[in-house]
Amino acid sequence: MELVDGKKLLAKVKLELKSEVQKMAHSNLRPPHLSAILVGDDPASKTYINAKIKSCEEIGFNSSVFKYSENVSETELLNKIHEINQSKEIDGLIVQLPLPKHINSDFITHSIDYKKDVDGFHPINMGRMVLGLDCFVPATPFGIMSLLEEYNIETSGKSCLVIGRSHIVGTPVSILMSRNKKRANSTVTLAHSKTKNLTSLTKEADIIIAAIGIPHFIKDTMVKKGCVIIDVGIHRVPSDKTKSGYRLVGDVDFDKVKEKVSFITPVPGGVGPMTIASLLKNTLFSAKKIIYSRT
Ligand code: NAP
Repeated sequence: MELVDGKKLLAKVKLELKSEVQKMAHSNLRPPHLSAILVGDDPASKTYINAKIKSCEEIGFNSSVFKYSENVSETELLNKIHEINQSKEIDGLIVQLPLPKHINSDFITHSIDYKKDVDGFHPINMGRMVLGLDCFVPATPFGIMSLLEEYNIETSGKSCLVIGRSHIVGTPVSILMSRNKKRANSTVTLAHSKTKNLTSLTKEADIIIAAIGIPHFIKDTMVKKGCVIIDVGIHRVPSDKTKSGYRLVGDVDFDKVKEKVSFITPVPGGVGPMTIASLLKNTLFSAKKIIYSRT
């Protein structure tokens, strides 16, 4: 079994991006700037935003976080998004999800200028991705594809089972895996909560991408020997062994499943860091477009 180490790949991506920022500085160009909107006090959301901002600082990107209370109005958020859309100094904007129930998340994320939508959630980016055109690929699926590339994992002609059909992970990654590209060309099945006989599908799959949102859902008895496991799930479960009182686990029963597979992503340290890597790459991509269009 080989561990597919997202933390290690994120470190490598950061070095590459840091060097890009330095090259830009030598040409008297400002660094890329990522902005984030954070609503409420959800500890997991705060942790994710902090990790993204810390990564920006490490590589020399500018960053800013706009924090709002749980009862912020949709109009207030839209006004801020509009302001950031107009800014010549900000290249990428993310809105940390989930948002409170009274806010329409789709409405908010779709109001981000698609040219600054570094999370890749905007319908224009989604549509362009489906057509294989230049776009911001959604950050988590982009990260998964980068891991497959880095570890030289064969995907062509393989059966790939994606479990979960969310707009941010399952659906886009199923499209990316089925594209006519070198690190894709898989025969994809997209499973969800209405799928019958899921275990018969998991047992046949060469590659399983689990984005279900249920801790330890995939058991060792469900997978075939030598398959590849990409675990997208991330859950805080109580633990008396950690200072924080919780530990992170994925959708896969890692300790048992790892004994049977050829490649597996750990949680934490697998897909999660790669979501950050993709955000940073997308922000640099956006910055270059914005900055070079003005020089
Ligand atoms: P989501 O919106 O919660 O959707 C879950 C999907 O799983 C749905 O399509 C659902 O089917 C399907 N599902 C639920 N129960 C199932 C079952 N028993 N059998 C088969 N399918 C089932 O998912 P998400 O936002 O993609 O998140 C999934 C997980 O990934 C979560 O743990 C989330 O925290 C994590 N995540 C991690 C990252 C990262 O950077 N590591 C990024 C995003 C998400 P229906 O459509 O029929 O309801």
